[in-house]
Amino acid sequence: MEKEKKRIATLERQITRIKQEINSIGDLRRGSLSEQYNICGTPGCKCKATPPIKHGPYYQLSFTKNGRSGTKFVNRKNVRIVRSQVKNYTRLRKLVEKWLELGSELSDLRLSDKVD
Ligand SMILES: [Zn+2]
Repeated sequence: MEKEKKRIATLERQITRIKQEINSIGDLRRGSLSEQYNICGTPGCKCKATPPIKHGPYYQLSFTKNGRSGTKFVNRKNVRIVRSQVKNYTRLRKLVEKWLELGSELSDLRLSDKVD
């Protein structure tokens, strides 16, 4: 079937592109980065003023590993790099999702091809 062959070729091209994109992804880090502001225990501190000027921002990475969640403080000077690692991870997951989606369709097409 000509139409199926065309679709197979399109899917193969798209999957090749995804693989190339995955290949170009840099360092990965699981989790999400959040910004936090804290109140301390020092009496009369600016963090207890009205309005309060809290301490921070502090950066925290929340993640799940082997089904367990964890957090980790991130030094301010490392925030940029950690943020980009987290972004890479999100991107990888999206690309893998897309690959699975296209791959499933491709697999189905290959099966029906053989039946014909
Ligand atoms: Zn304080």
